[in-house]
Amino acid sequence: MVEIISWVLVPVLYLGALALYLMVAPAIALLRGLALTMELLAGHVRLLVGVLYRRTPEFRTLPPYRPQDEDVKAYRNYFFGPGYRDLRQLLTLERRSYIRTTGDSFRAVTSGQFVTPARHRAFTVPYGLTLHLGLCLGAAMALPPLALLLALHALLLVTLTGGARLVAGTLRATDRAVLRVRRLRTGMLCPHCFERVPYPAYDCPRATCRRRHADIRPGTYGILRRRCECEERMPTLLMLMSRDARLQAFCVHPNCEKPMNADAGHMPEAALPLIGGQAAGKTQLMAAMLLALENAAAAGGPAIKLADDESHSNYQVLREVLRMQGHTRATQKALPRAHSFVLGSGRSERLIHLFDTAGERFVNREETDALRYARAARTIVFVLDPMSVKAFWAALDAAPGPPLDRTLASTVDPEDVYAPSIQTVDAMNAPLKRSRLAVAISKTDLLAAHGLLPETLDDSARARTWLCEELGLRNLVQTMEHDFQEVRYFYTAAVADEEARVDASVGRFVEWCLRE
Ligand SMILES: [Zn+2]
Ligand SMILES: [Zn+2]
Repeated sequence: MVEIISWVLVPVLYLGALALYLMVAPAIALLRGLALTMELLAGHVRLLVGVLYRRTPEFRTLPPYRPQDEDVKAYRNYFFGPGYRDLRQLLTLERRSYIRTTGDSFRAVTSGQFVTPARHRAFTVPYGLTLHLGLCLGAAMALPPLALLLALHALLLVTLTGGARLVAGTLRATDRAVLRVRRLRTGMLCPHCFERVPYPAYDCPRATCRRRHADIRPGTYGILRRRCECEERMPTLLMLMSRDARLQAFCVHPNCEKPMNADAGHMPEAALPLIGGQAAGKTQLMAAMLLALENAAAAGGPAIKLADDESHSNYQVLREVLRMQGHTRATQKALPRAHSFVLGSGRSERLIHLFDTAGERFVNREETDALRYARAARTIVFVLDPMSVKAFWAALDAAPGPPLDRTLASTVDPEDVYAPSIQTVDAMNAPLKRSRLAVAISKTDLLAAHGLLPETLDDSARARTWLCEELGLRNLVQTMEHDFQEVRYFYTAAVADEEARVDASVGRFVEWCLRE
């Protein structure tokens, strides 16, 4: 009987049960597979949160982008590197997680159902095989959605990166357009090395940091703002700097790197060089020009604002020069060479660089450097001291009246200053043919006091005739008129009265020089 039970009944019952089980086995396998798929997808979400948001060490497989490793000490924009790093990390972690989760599930079934089963193997082996089949199914089912999710991630990243680059490019183009409108297409003028700076470098505004950022424009390190290594945020464009939050600009030329005017890049610029021999009266004229502009501003004309601290202190020296009525030899202070100021207000603001080129000396490099600046000028001032012309004294010796102090005269003949200066500027490809020349006949207050001047002083044509006929400078006059598009002659008296009112001749002269 026992034999019948164990060799017939039990196998028949077992096979019957197995047949019944086989009917539900596909459902079990399918459910186990689904469970694995869901587990793998949940694992993906966990990795996504970890890599993109939590950023804890276990989610890190590649070294991060750090500002201290960059050429520019700033954080990279997400779409210029870090985004791709995240995607690569996600792929690595996803692969590892997939292998681990699937492997763990298979191992759990093998040990639970085959190696150390809790029940008889006759029951656990078919169940274990069903689960294995389910796991194979689940592992395969998880692949398409995972691949799709990663592909969508990559697609989104590529699209946003393209968008970010497009926005950065558009902003740079807009900035270039704004600079072109301000006629700064070729750059701004550095008041130290006299070179054009295509786009200044800027220092981090944080007082304890001051790291130099060579190129702040939109790109790798930020679209609208960039973050310095010190965490301080700074605007990426000149047009994003508000009037009171302008960053300090610096020259980008390797041997200079000095600070530029705070207004550089924010408004059109003009250079107004003064060429003339030593003691021809350039410094006095410069002082009188500034004072005339200040007087005009007080009387309702365009506003004038000195561009920087250096110009402020220089201006004090210039006022002193003017107060001493031209006796510059009396001052012990070094005379300022350049002066930057903002003329006008609102949209009509212009940054003007007025400077003395010391045209009579070309021995040292610094002097010719100053002339390089003249390249940017569309109006050049030639200061002509009549007392430096021999013909002037020859005519004077015959004339009656009190003698004129010869020591006040420039010792350099105007022709000896004009030719080399203009040749130097011309050799630098300055468009002289499209430029204007203002000839300032200096020290006319001294001459007028001795009755040596014609009656009318505000007529360019008469001044020209006076230069040709009285001073015998016809050759020089003709050369000038050949070199420049337009030449005007002005008698200038760089003097001020007790109330700091400058002689009217200077006002007319300045107005013409700064006319656009
Ligand atoms: Zn410079
Ligand atoms: Zn900083």
